[in-house]
Amino acid sequence: MTRFNWRVFGIFQKLISRYRGRCSYAKVWLRRLFTNFDSDTCLEPMFWFVDNYTHLLGPFFLFAVTGLTIAVVIIAYWIGLPFWWEKSPKAAVVLVIIGNWLLLNVVFHYIMGVITPPGEPPQMDDGSFAVRKICKKCSLPKAPRTHHCSICNKCVLKMDHHCPWLNNCVGFFNHRYFFLYMAYTTIGCLYLIIFGFEIGFKYLWYEHGERWIESEPLEGQPVKFNLSGHIIPVTHALEYDDDVLLPAKHALPTPPNSAEDGNIYTEGKRHAIIFMTATNVTAALALGALTVWHAMLITRGETSIEALINQEETERLGKENKTYVNPYNFGARKNWKLFLGLVRGRSFWRCVLLPSWHKPEGNGLIFHTVHDERANLSADEWP
Ligand SMILES: [Zn+2]
Ligand SMILES: [Zn+2]
Repeated sequence: MTRFNWRVFGIFQKLISRYRGRCSYAKVWLRRLFTNFDSDTCLEPMFWFVDNYTHLLGPFFLFAVTGLTIAVVIIAYWIGLPFWWEKSPKAAVVLVIIGNWLLLNVVFHYIMGVITPPGEPPQMDDGSFAVRKICKKCSLPKAPRTHHCSICNKCVLKMDHHCPWLNNCVGFFNHRYFFLYMAYTTIGCLYLIIFGFEIGFKYLWYEHGERWIESEPLEGQPVKFNLSGHIIPVTHALEYDDDVLLPAKHALPTPPNSAEDGNIYTEGKRHAIIFMTATNVTAALALGALTVWHAMLITRGETSIEALINQEETERLGKENKTYVNPYNFGARKNWKLFLGLVRGRSFWRCVLLPSWHKPEGNGLIFHTVHDERANLSADEWP
């Protein structure tokens, strides 16, 4: 009985401490919100949410990305291809080839980003790399550029960030896949927007905008003008005539945009065009901004985490009238060559324009810095 009581008491204590922990966190956050409002305050609840729930949402994100991609491709073939085929079969063939090249790169880099582990430090210090410090959370030796991911609950080599859309951490071994996936998806969405523009324009503006034309023929149907001036069918006799006369048989002319010129869109196609517009515009804007942001980081030779650290260091040293130098910034050209792995004779067209499995240079534990004697060597002469 005593043992049972002790166990219940233990569980009770655990619950209270957890509740206290959450409450104190909320209190600290609220206090900071009202006393010292800064960007950290805004980000803290986000970090807390991300830490606690992202791993649960991971499979949902994977499912969403896969589903959206499949839907977009199906609609492109269903509506886009016949539209272009009718205009010019030659143009349609070229568009299909370019579209499939983009799709191949999107699918390849996404799958590789998901299945490639970002890289973990070894379980013990074997002297093969300079241990910066020991991780407080997983007690493993930390190599330079290694950071602990609280969602994966492990240390990640050259960690950039945890990506819920990949349900994986982005680090040393999959950073290139992640970046090229974003870049190709952005280009793919822009491609669909450009070559689907005419279809969207015809439907969204020409057919339902100012020059709205009813695409369903109204033959044999009594009609009236509604308040916005459109011709609509009369469904009840009372609407048609106050004197309850039976509707007469009308033979109205078929509207100019009829099935013969291929401009009739079924309800399903209309929804599909709206879906394509919303999905591609949103993805192009969001992923386009992310791609540009990551391209800037790669140009400067830093990861997302290092961007924050480097900014803080620049500010700290700036107060002491000193200049901070990012040890991993070898100049834009060399940074890109190293990031894309365009060394040892690898070419841009083979390793960037086409899917490539090549691994990044090095092992993710040792990094050259600008302070090294060999830093002036070309990327091909490394390590
Ligand atoms: Zn760790
Ligand atoms: Zn992670």
